[in-house]
Amino acid sequence: MIKIENLHKQFGKLEVLKGITTTIKEGEVVAIIGPSGSGKSTFLRCINLLEKPTNGRIFIGEQDITDKKTNIMKVRQNVGMVFQHFHLFPHKSVLENLTYAPMKVKGQSKKEAEKIGLELLAKVGLSSKANEYPGRLSGGQKQRVAIARALAMQPEVMLFDEPTSALDPEMVKEVLDVMKSLAHTGMTMAIVTHEMGFAREVADRVLFLDGGVLVEDAPPSEFFSNPTSDRAKDFLQKML
Ligand code: ADP
Ligand code: MG
Repeated sequence: MIKIENLHKQFGKLEVLKGITTTIKEGEVVAIIGPSGSGKSTFLRCINLLEKPTNGRIFIGEQDITDKKTNIMKVRQNVGMVFQHFHLFPHKSVLENLTYAPMKVKGQSKKEAEKIGLELLAKVGLSSKANEYPGRLSGGQKQRVAIARALAMQPEVMLFDEPTSALDPEMVKEVLDVMKSLAHTGMTMAIVTHEMGFAREVADRVLFLDGGVLVEDAPPSEFFSNPTSDRAKDFLQKML
């Protein structure tokens, strides 16, 4: 589903991604872990072209999204993203947050968008909050709305950048549970996370980034019990 070949990203002289090559299969769940500043967010942001790769190629399905002719908006429609800090529209109700892009970008009717929106809110356990404003929700509820909003565009791929890092501890589980059930529907997902238990349980593969290099790419059973690099061993020792 996603093929990444020799991906480089530089900000000025700073080389943040130093040639990353990997593939993510359809329906696969990949956890991306690594120290702060290792390039995890930049890597995710390249996959939906929030950052433009300096070099290398990224295919989503058959499409080379790094090709100049690619319609960036189309790519973003197909690749949903969930951020650490939710990024909801504060002046729209929860349901309006979900219906806005499908109506505006996909040309869905209000009726159709609301029907899909309400189904998604039910899936994330927030049917009762459809008419509430984001400011009146807890962090965990906001993040579940953000996930539902991304899903409303019916993407083929979902990217998550530390979706639980800004949450109070008691709200982490409700968000991880939503992500887990999404994984079970067969969604292709790439998740930057510090939740090692979640990565171990839900991910099919772990990508360990350090200094802009993909140091390990292994199933969690291997990665957590037998990391091959000293850098990963070091990181895990600090995390666990
Ligand atoms: P991580 O998510 O693993 O913490 P990031 O991808 O956010 O790492 O950042 C990797 C490096 O790139 C850091 O040194 C960061 O300061 C730098 N960086 C990220 N975004 C930008 C940007 N827009 N301009 C300049 N430097 C950036
Ligand atoms: Mg980051």
